[in-house]
Amino acid sequence: MKENKIDYEKILKNLQETEFDNMSIKYWCNLSCNSITSLDTRIEVINEKILVKGEMFEIEGEARFCSKCNIQISDIVLDDLRLENAYNQYRKKHRLLMPEEITEIYKKYNLTAKGLAEILNFGDNTIYRYEKGALQDKVHDAFLKQISKPNNMLDHINNCKINISKKAEQKLRDKIEKLMIEDLKKMVDELVREMKKEEKYEMTQIGTPIYNKAEYSYIFNQQSIVAA
Ligand SMILES: [Zn+2]
Repeated sequence: MKENKIDYEKILKNLQETEFDNMSIKYWCNLSCNSITSLDTRIEVINEKILVKGEMFEIEGEARFCSKCNIQISDIVLDDLRLENAYNQYRKKHRLLMPEEITEIYKKYNLTAKGLAEILNFGDNTIYRYEKGALQDKVHDAFLKQISKPNNMLDHINNCKINISKKAEQKLRDKIEKLMIEDLKKMVDELVREMKKEEKYEMTQIGTPIYNKAEYSYIFNQQSIVAA
């Protein structure tokens, strides 16, 4: 009986050996074909169930097949895209940040992925891995959402021991201050806009002419003259 075990070592070795031959990438069919070019393969849309942290997600995505034996073969790009699709469904369901939102957070503070990881006491590559699509830890996600607000970031650097140079810290504090002022300005603008809206409303209320009977008959007569 043939053993149906995935040989990760072999797959990894194959991936490492993937050659670029006049833009015709070579693939490996683990049945009999061994090395084949993209001409011997085809791409099909498949429905797949992918398990993410114990939850099943049904996704639709492209996969590569060997045209000779018709079995699905590994394609590092397509396989990743399907996994990403499942991860994004998991993120949506659990209201987790999307990878690009994580990037936005560190850019907002003029930091790098590594810089933000240092400030939050995460592992050096943690933010980098998240923005490249690795599924984030739920506690990390909540923390990231919190510090995306400048006042919370300020609280964090005021109350926690962070491992960055004095100069870097000052730069961050200046940026936080700027962001807080911007947020405040936005709030004031919004408030002024709301107030103006109400003022306008009041003005139309006051501005609505209230005529007495004599005035009405006068207007009515004027209109009749115009109409005649
Ligand atoms: Zn094959």
